[in-house]
Amino acid sequence: MQIQFLGAAGTVTGSSFLLTNNNQKILIDMGMFQGSRELEELNQKPLTFAANEINTVFLTHAHLDHVGRMPILMKHGFAGSVYMTAATREIAEVALLDAAKIMQTEHEKPILYTEEDVFSLLAHTKIVSYGEEINLGGFTALFRDAGHILGSASIEIHLGEHTLAFSGDLGNSPEELVKPTEYIKLADTVIMESTYGDRNHPDEDPNEVIIGEIKKIEGTGGALLIPSFSVERTQALLHKIAHFKADGKISHEIPVYLDSPMGEAVTEIYKKFPSLYNAELFSDSKSHDPFSFPDLRIVANYKESQKIHTEAGAKVIIAGSGMMTGGRILEHAIHYLPLSTTSLLIVGFQAENTIGRQIEEGAKSVAIYGQEVAVNSQVIMIHSMSAHADKKLLLRWLKEIEGVNKIFLVHGENTSREALRREIKKFSRGEVFLPHLEETVEI
Ligand SMILES: [Zn+2]
Repeated sequence: MQIQFLGAAGTVTGSSFLLTNNNQKILIDMGMFQGSRELEELNQKPLTFAANEINTVFLTHAHLDHVGRMPILMKHGFAGSVYMTAATREIAEVALLDAAKIMQTEHEKPILYTEEDVFSLLAHTKIVSYGEEINLGGFTALFRDAGHILGSASIEIHLGEHTLAFSGDLGNSPEELVKPTEYIKLADTVIMESTYGDRNHPDEDPNEVIIGEIKKIEGTGGALLIPSFSVERTQALLHKIAHFKADGKISHEIPVYLDSPMGEAVTEIYKKFPSLYNAELFSDSKSHDPFSFPDLRIVANYKESQKIHTEAGAKVIIAGSGMMTGGRILEHAIHYLPLSTTSLLIVGFQAENTIGRQIEEGAKSVAIYGQEVAVNSQVIMIHSMSAHADKKLLLRWLKEIEGVNKIFLVHGENTSREALRREIKKFSRGEVFLPHLEETVEI
C-alpha cells in the first residue's frame, strides 16, 4: 500500500493525500495552497494522478485549504463519489462558489474552475454520519467528529491489513459551539496535522477581552471593528455576544453589525445543525437561535454598509475578510482606523503580506485601495480563539490511539512538525516521518 503526499507536506495549506492499494485509489482532501505567491502557484500545477482512476474521495471539512482544489477533478474525468458530512456539504458549497466567483472577478488569480464545476462536483456527494461504517468493496471507512468546525471529521480507513487514521484538522476542545474532538482508538498508521505542534495557546479568557473592549466603546461612543473569518469565527463571536447580552455583561442596546454575506450564509447553515452543537454548553441557552440577540443588524448590501459610517454612537462591526485581504472590512478600516476612539480587535491568524498582519505588527499607516490610511485606533489581539488543537491537544489525540507504528506529520510548518516529533518520541515507539511534497511512501 502507498500513500502519496500531494499537499500540506511541509506547509499548512493544500491538504491532499492519495492512498493506493492494488487497484484501489482513494483521495483524502484536495485543498488550495494559500499564502505566498510561490505556494499559490502550486494550485496551477497539472495533476500528478489520473482523476478518472479515483473511485472514492473523502473530504474532512469545508475549509478551502482542504476542499479548494477539488472541483479541478471535474475537468479530468472524475466520476467517483465524494464522501462528506451533511454540514460539510453545505458549507463547501458556499465556500467553493465564493472561491469560483473571486477567480472570475479578481484578475490576478488564475481561473482554476467555474461555478459549474463546483455544482458538478457536489452532484457526486455521498452524505456520511459520524460513526457510520461505510463499506466500499474491499475496505471500510468511518468519520469521527474532529471538533474543529461544524461538520469536520477525522477519518479511519480499514484497507488491506492496515488501519489508517487521518486526523483532518483537530479542534481546540472544549469549544462553545462544536462538540469535542472524538478520539480514534486503534490504528497502525497515523497521518496527523501539526499546525500548532510547537506551542500551546495562551491561557487567556477571550470573553473577558471582548467584554472589556465592548464596555470601552460604550464609554467613548467609538467603533469596535472585528475582521472575521466567515466560517466558525463569525458564528463563535455572534454566540459569545448573544450570551454577553443575555447575561447583562454588556448593554442590550449596543448595535452589532454583521457585515459579511458569506458569514451570514454560513451562520444560516450552522442553525440547521443544532445536533452538532456542544449540547452541554448550550443547556443554559434560553433561545433556540444561538446566534441572535437584541440589536443584531444584518447588513444587506454595500449601500447599507456605507450608511453605518453616518450612524452616531458606539457600535460593533463584524466584517470579512478575516485577514483584511478584501471584503467589506476595508471600507470600515478606511473610515474608522484614523479615529482614536476606534478599537480594532484581531481574533484570528494573520498571514504574512496581509493588511491584518501589518496592523498586528504595529504599522502606523496601511495602504488600502491605493490610499494611505492612518492607524490611530487601538489594536487588540486575542490568540486563544483558535479553531485548532494546540500542542498538548495534538499529543492527547495521538496518545488515545493504540497500536501505532508509523506517524506522518503534515499540515504544519517544518519548525512545528519537528517540535511535535521530538515530543512524540518521548512516549511513542512509532516511527515519525515528516514527508515532503509529492513524496510517496510504502506502508
Ligand atoms: Zn480547517
